Amino acid sequence: MNTRREFLGTTAGALAGIAFVGCDLLAAAPARAQARRREVMVGGRRVKTVDVHAHCAVPEAMALMGMTLSTPGSTLPPLLHMATQASERIRAMDEQGIDVEALSINPYWYKADRDVASQLIKLQNEKLAEACAAHPDRFVAFATVALQHPDLAAQQLEEGVKKYGLRGAGIGGSVNGEEISDPKFHPFWAKAEQLGVLVFIHPQGTGVAVDLQNRLKGNGLLDNVIGNPLETTVALSHLIFEGTLDRFPGLKICAAHGGGFLPSYAGRSDQGCHVFPDRCPGPKDGALKKKPTEYLKQMYYDNIIFSPEAMRHIIAEVGASQIVVGTDYPYPWTKTAVDLVMSTPGLSDADRAAVLGGTAAKLLGIKT
Ligand SMILES: [Zn+2]
Repeated sequence: MNTRREFLGTTAGALAGIAFVGCDLLAAAPARAQARRREVMVGGRRVKTVDVHAHCAVPEAMALMGMTLSTPGSTLPPLLHMATQASERIRAMDEQGIDVEALSINPYWYKADRDVASQLIKLQNEKLAEACAAHPDRFVAFATVALQHPDLAAQQLEEGVKKYGLRGAGIGGSVNGEEISDPKFHPFWAKAEQLGVLVFIHPQGTGVAVDLQNRLKGNGLLDNVIGNPLETTVALSHLIFEGTLDRFPGLKICAAHGGGFLPSYAGRSDQGCHVFPDRCPGPKDGALKKKPTEYLKQMYYDNIIFSPEAMRHIIAEVGASQIVVGTDYPYPWTKTAVDLVMSTPGLSDADRAAVLGGTAAKLLGIKT
């Protein structure tokens, strides 16, 4: 019942906004009311909602790579800037019913040499910590790490967590064309496991989309709508099949965009090894410890998947305990991540509260 009321309330708010655009002065009052902080309730209880997929930028660090936020033609919106745009961000969070954002930065520094990468990450993580400290009840952040230098990345993660209070690491789905399951990255995975922190994997725009450039051109931004989830699908599959998840069983991984296509067609990962066992010898140090699809149930996924049926399906594959809220802010993919949880069929109140924020709060050390 609460679920239905919450959902209808949002719809009414959206309609009020449309009326206001139509210059109806009488509609001005409901439009203003909509700007108030939306408090999400489940089963009569206030739930602290957490968005694990929220982008930001530190221009001072970008400058070390010759990048700016305002370059003409750039896909980087000024809203990414925390120092100048935090109030607009909080306004959007209030409107969407997001209490806490876990900030991350998509890696653009993977080609930087060791010296530049050291300087850039230090500055960037300091600024991320400052942004969180300015609004400690609204923001936490993932550390940025120079994964192209795996031993340095391990140090940066430790420093990010212990010195700057960051809550995990945000990494790409590949590193300059190399798979994140490559043994060269083991020092990073070992550190993440040892610290017990969440690793958020976001596809690189320069990942598989680059290899498939010719196939993904034309209408429909296929380089993004197919390229990005495909990058995540490939990255997670390698972590499974190359034995990374066996080697570091304590890893906590959260994949962007609902894990890409992998949870939608999980059965094929098991069936391939069943039908063609000679193509699935497992990693060098022995066969996989579990069926490929079993590993899906130990990772976490944001809910940037847009429909209640997609939510129902991913929950059937991996369990409600593995799903968290994501918005992709400030990219306008969705403003209804909370509503999507509310409208997902078959969830208990406890499940719904966990998906909305309880699970992410535990993973990220956020007080509820
Ligand atoms: Zn994103």
